[in-house]
Amino acid sequence: MLFYRTVLERVGAESVTLGARVTGYVQDAEGVRLDIEHRDGRREQVRHDAVIAADGIKSAIRRQMHPDQAEPEFSGITMWRGTTLRDPYRGGHTICHIGNPHVSSMIVYPIAENFEGSGKDLINWVVETNGEETIEDWNQTGDITEVIPLYDTVKIPFLDVQQLMRDAREVYLFPLIRHAPLDGWVDGRVVLLGDAAHAMYPRGGNGITQAMIDARVIVEQIAAHPDDPHAAFTAYDGARREVVNRITDNMRGEGYEVIRRIVADRTDGLPFDDIEQVLPLAEADEIFGRYHALVGSPRPGHDAGAATGFRTHDVAVAE
Ligand SMILES: Cc1cc2nc3c(=O)[nH]c(=O)nc-3n(C[C@H](O)[C@H](O)[C@H](O)COP(=O)(O)OP(=O)(O)OC[C@H]3O[C@@H](n4cnc5c(N)ncnc54)[C@H](O)[C@@H]3O)c2cc1C
Repeated sequence: MLFYRTVLERVGAESVTLGARVTGYVQDAEGVRLDIEHRDGRREQVRHDAVIAADGIKSAIRRQMHPDQAEPEFSGITMWRGTTLRDPYRGGHTICHIGNPHVSSMIVYPIAENFEGSGKDLINWVVETNGEETIEDWNQTGDITEVIPLYDTVKIPFLDVQQLMRDAREVYLFPLIRHAPLDGWVDGRVVLLGDAAHAMYPRGGNGITQAMIDARVIVEQIAAHPDDPHAAFTAYDGARREVVNRITDNMRGEGYEVIRRIVADRTDGLPFDDIEQVLPLAEADEIFGRYHALVGSPRPGHDAGAATGFRTHDVAVAE
């Protein structure tokens, strides 16, 4: 909604068409015709100089451009996601990674302070479980009693995770899915961007983040090639595709979340007193440093070039 309101302010309502679905395109040397189906069943064709397809993981444009690579892959992991209003914990800025990833793991983090003046923080939480594929639908709700027992033995002084789940405002289920990396995002005057080009497992918040970098780079390239959309799109593809495909491949594993498995393996899943004895900060920092370099935001003191050749499973065997 933030993006939507910003577009209305900056570009104007006449530039936005809601309730319309692109079903395909046809292009010639001068432009592109888009086939559109409106929610009321009305069909329309519109013609433009070029098309940037940001139509998400089920992209109709991607399906036409790469018919053999249109179906997403399921990771075997289902995510249970909810938000809960509660008192701030640990200063209000702490992310918790909880659980044994061989069984189920949970991430908990605050997303809004004093939510809507309630005096409470809005806490986001995600539980991952292994098992049957769930349907991919933004509105599929989950029954939290199926996962609460997995956290029977978890005792954290400042956070009752079972209560957190019970108090959720809503719980949604999502399969963790991604697309295989593509060998091209451009077809003449048509180009893919965001999840349409590179849906990845969003480890470390790298779904929308990479889409936003795409947007910046494509705008720069259009400004540099104002009369030649194909040249602009090809330059964008050249600047972004290999980098993003490398991230997509790495996210296929656990990403930096490998730290959870390292801790579980080194402790046999049993409680411990001193994290320094299990996973020293310097070792964790090294893992985070390599991850940050990979996704294009090197941490101070870490080599940006460390991304080269980095693969998550190299880190996983660091022991
Ligand atoms: C459960 C879950 C958790 C996630 N968590 C994170 C996270 O913490 N951090 C992170 O960075 N990323 C996360 N992601 C990934 C992130 O949501 C996506 O990477 C991001 O939304 C991609 O943006 P996009 O604009 O490319 O596509 P989308 O946000 O999917 O937008 C695509 C748009 O195109 C529209 N559309 C679809 N088909 C058509 C059509 N045929 N014609 C016209 N319009 C169409 C859709 O209605 C939609 O509005 C998560 C994803 C899921 C499912």
